[in-house]
Amino acid sequence: MDIYGIIGYPLTHSFSAKFFAEKFKRENINAEYLNFEIKSILDIREIIIFNQHLKGLNVTIPYKEKVIPFLNSLSAEAKKIGAVNVIKISRKSDDFYFYELTGYNSDYIGFKKSLIPFLQSSTHRYALILGTGGAAKAVAYALTDLDIEWLTVSRSPTKGSIGYCDLTADIIAKHTIIINTTPVGTFPNSDECPNIPYKLLTTNHLLYDLIYNPEETLFLKRGQEQGSKTKNGKEMLELQALEAWDIWSREA
Ligand code: NAP
Repeated sequence: MDIYGIIGYPLTHSFSAKFFAEKFKRENINAEYLNFEIKSILDIREIIIFNQHLKGLNVTIPYKEKVIPFLNSLSAEAKKIGAVNVIKISRKSDDFYFYELTGYNSDYIGFKKSLIPFLQSSTHRYALILGTGGAAKAVAYALTDLDIEWLTVSRSPTKGSIGYCDLTADIIAKHTIIINTTPVGTFPNSDECPNIPYKLLTTNHLLYDLIYNPEETLFLKRGQEQGSKTKNGKEMLELQALEAWDIWSREA
């Protein structure tokens, strides 16, 4: 039986195991999906050698960037984004220790596909990305693909990003897409939200939260109070998982 799985730490919140177990059952696929909760990325070698039927892995927090030195190659997108959330494993049937790992990024595809239906070309030309982690890089790559200019907002602004206290009325008025890629507002801290001037939001704004638990974060609620359109991270999550399956199922 083929095996797929996810590496990360912690994995208590993992959506993927449930998603793939249901998919395999529904579509009669003879495969199993396992959680590999690892405290160090060095453990990836052992997982791959001791699970010879393992064909693919998802990668989640905190390893999306740390896993890159362990891979043999990267897709063009993963290379540009600098983060990997899908690994395809190739082996030689006669050599227990031979394997090749290729890294991909399906987060950016999930984000891009889920954003497109909400875009109005005349209104949505500039975006603010809150946070500068792995997910922010995938979001930035997708926005560039869509010809949307973006600016990152960080707690420690450096060259190329601004701080939360720099969010003036002009900046908010210009950037009609605001994407939360920080974990702020995730369950159980559902009473928190990124520190942006919500009062300046309008009906032209689209607020996108990568968080999917809770389904409606305080960030989205405060946007709705201003009449802004909102979208949570659930569809992105499902689309990136489907894309991972396509990657694993493709012939080498
Ligand atoms: P990450 O690498 O830890 O980055 C998160 C970024 O958020 C950090 O770089 C940081 O940027 C900012 N941040 C962290 N703690 C903060 C705080 N207390 N206040 C303000 N800003 C803070 O995580 P990630 O992998 O990018 O993931 C981020 C979020 O996206 C997570 O909630 C994850 O579950 C979600 N996600 C969802 C999907 C999906 O399919 N829906 C896919 C991927 C990720 P600064 O230091 O620059 O402020």
